[in-house]
Amino acid sequence: MALIVQKFGGTSVKDADRIRNVADIVTKKYQEGNDVVVVVSAQGDTTDDFIAKAAELNPHPSAREMDVLLSAGEQISMSLLAMTIENMGFPAVSLTGWQAGIKTDLNYSSARIRKIDPERVRSLLDRRKIVIVAGFQGISPHNSITTLGRGGSDTTAVALAAALHADLCQIYTDVDGVYTADPRVVKNAVKLDEITYDEMLELATLGAQVLHNRSVEMAKRYNVDLEVISSLTRNPGTKVKEAVSVEKMIINGVACDKHVTRIAVMGIKDEPGMAFKLFGLLAKENISVDIIIQSIGRGDQKDISFTVAEDLGEKTVELLKANQKTLGFQDISMQSGLAKLSIVGAGMASNAGVAAKLFDALASCMINVRMISTSEIKISVIINGDEADRAVKAVHAKFFD
Ligand code: ASP
Ligand code: MG
Repeated sequence: MALIVQKFGGTSVKDADRIRNVADIVTKKYQEGNDVVVVVSAQGDTTDDFIAKAAELNPHPSAREMDVLLSAGEQISMSLLAMTIENMGFPAVSLTGWQAGIKTDLNYSSARIRKIDPERVRSLLDRRKIVIVAGFQGISPHNSITTLGRGGSDTTAVALAAALHADLCQIYTDVDGVYTADPRVVKNAVKLDEITYDEMLELATLGAQVLHNRSVEMAKRYNVDLEVISSLTRNPGTKVKEAVSVEKMIINGVACDKHVTRIAVMGIKDEPGMAFKLFGLLAKENISVDIIIQSIGRGDQKDISFTVAEDLGEKTVELLKANQKTLGFQDISMQSGLAKLSIVGAGMASNAGVAAKLFDALASCMINVRMISTSEIKISVIINGDEADRAVKAVHAKFFD
């Protein structure tokens, strides 16, 4: 007998048939003798529909009221699932975030979980109830409803699994696991049986879009065994854990983020403190910077280029221009429509020649590399966005064929 947390995303609960399917999965686990906690997202496009509804009535609603509104989506799912399970003859109880003891900070729309008081969930499990918890929500120190940011139900599930010391946290979704590349781009991409937290974190941040990256961070911190699995096919999914048991592949995946903008700041004074001034300014405005490259200084000047998410490009350039005097640079340029292709793998650290193989694949299809960055388990290159799919295919073929 084990304690299992199962999370079901919006597509898995989008209509009555899908909810029955979820109830089936949940009650099977329960009948095997396990304690089962279920975390649900809002049905289908509910959250987006709520956002549109709000905009009709107020273009700038307060963050507090938006969270009250958006948290309602998960509340619909949890009660519908509980009723369905009751109708099958099993005992189920649904709880909102606050009822389940999920305490967050004050940051409406992107709150962080501070603490979970799991007593109520525990006592329900002790009475052999199936406990269904609304994902994506909690309660602030002032007892206001908060939400955890888009995709936040994954984080609810992992946090509950950590607080309850669950044996496994299963994230049910509409894909059947984590692949070596986006299967829509690379036809022969293969599903991975296992992957490490660090690799998954890189892939999540790089836009593999399978898991909310905060949920992976939390799973790593509290050592929660995770599984990404399809609610439709019911095939075994991908296990995410500290160390994988199979012989490590050199790389595990090719990821691609197609929304990258490069900003080049030219003719900055080559003296101590300039990089701090520049990036300190961006940090204060919450602009996160990804790859950074500094040129060799010439005379008393140097250039610094860096990438940001596409939707932050304009804002970043405006901010820097407004501070041109204090930063003392000569010129600034922006290029959007770029992509970041990355290969990720824990086996990279102990294998020479991985970078060469990557550059070979790109060179053989005449793709120009604009920026490069490396870490122990990742190599990223910035390329033109319109060449991204071609590049992903070529790189995947080089490493996996
Ligand atoms: N319903 C929320 C969203 O659409 C949270 C989630 O699905 O995880 O972002
Ligand atoms: Mg999701």
